[in-house]
Amino acid sequence: MSRERAISRREFLRSAAGTGTATAMFFASPLRAAALPPTPKTIVVTFGGGARDEETFAPGGQRYIPRLLEELIPQATFYTQVVNRGILGHYVANAGLATGCYETFDNFMPIAPSNPTIFEYYRRDRQRSASDVWVIAPSNGFDCIGESNHTLYGHGLGATVVLPKQLLTLANHRAVADYDQLLRDNYESPIVSPLTAKRQDSLHGMAELMKLSMDDFLAHARKSQSPDELSLYIAQHVMQTVAPSLLWITLHDIDIAHSGAFSLYTEAITRTDSICADLWKSVQSNPEYAGKTNLFLLPDFGRDSDMSPGGNGFQHHRTGDALSRTTWLMAMGPNIRQGVTVDRPVQSVDLVPTLAHLLGCNARFSSGSPLTEVL
Ligand SMILES: [Zn+2]
Repeated sequence: MSRERAISRREFLRSAAGTGTATAMFFASPLRAAALPPTPKTIVVTFGGGARDEETFAPGGQRYIPRLLEELIPQATFYTQVVNRGILGHYVANAGLATGCYETFDNFMPIAPSNPTIFEYYRRDRQRSASDVWVIAPSNGFDCIGESNHTLYGHGLGATVVLPKQLLTLANHRAVADYDQLLRDNYESPIVSPLTAKRQDSLHGMAELMKLSMDDFLAHARKSQSPDELSLYIAQHVMQTVAPSLLWITLHDIDIAHSGAFSLYTEAITRTDSICADLWKSVQSNPEYAGKTNLFLLPDFGRDSDMSPGGNGFQHHRTGDALSRTTWLMAMGPNIRQGVTVDRPVQSVDLVPTLAHLLGCNARFSSGSPLTEVL
């Protein structure tokens, strides 16, 4: 079924591209662009919260992702069959994306990954500071994603993890406005951990490091529709003021599908589509990133099929059926071929060894294999 899904994606893309350009777009193998500069930047964005083909690459879904189809895919190498064989919970799955191993801890607990993250591999092997590696994550549950508890890595080698909702809570300490819609921690668990004094101190330090004006952030929050728009704002700000070499952004708006409202789910997909395209535009207009940044874009996993007897369609990702496990990945950048599709099955855990190769570090504990088509 995964393979069928991949073939369908290829066909959908071909139809989206139009018959006139399909051959050139999907079967040519243009020469690689100019050689990579010595220190490429890397940005990873998870197309967040689980989206199905029916609402993205299928003919009826393409209207929700116009900018991926028109602006990004023509510039990308596109993997049509990326299988996630791990636990389909957002935090544990994203931790698995970051370690290149299927993590097995309780998704709803604040637990550090067991295996080293790409952030630690990069920082240790390339002797980079914490300010060179940033993670922007959607909810309190992701607080521990930046650093594993592996004995050879871990403590002091992780990423700088910023949770925009925590920053908003801190900035709005006088409660001058109602940001409930932006502050909702996640769409699956009602448990919200309080902002401890230690965490508040660390947030103040982080805001200082990225020269973030809390007034400007609040002003932006007032006109934001969703938490992921706050994440985009922080990402663009960090790129301007700190310009880290490795930036990881986990988007999550799409997971509002758990509410059961189909229109909120598809609106979130279109918003995510826009956020990804806007981020790539920011890359091109920022001299620290333009022409020397590789972007990897992929969902953490899918959602249940309408046909799964144990599920409830788009609403959840509980059945573990083939469709909820089979996603896609697109990669673009100065050393990555444009307009190429790859149909061979790959896995979510292949991302980390690929990033490690590009970043010049060794992901020695990852169970994945590098995606050779983009190296
Ligand atoms: Zn979910």
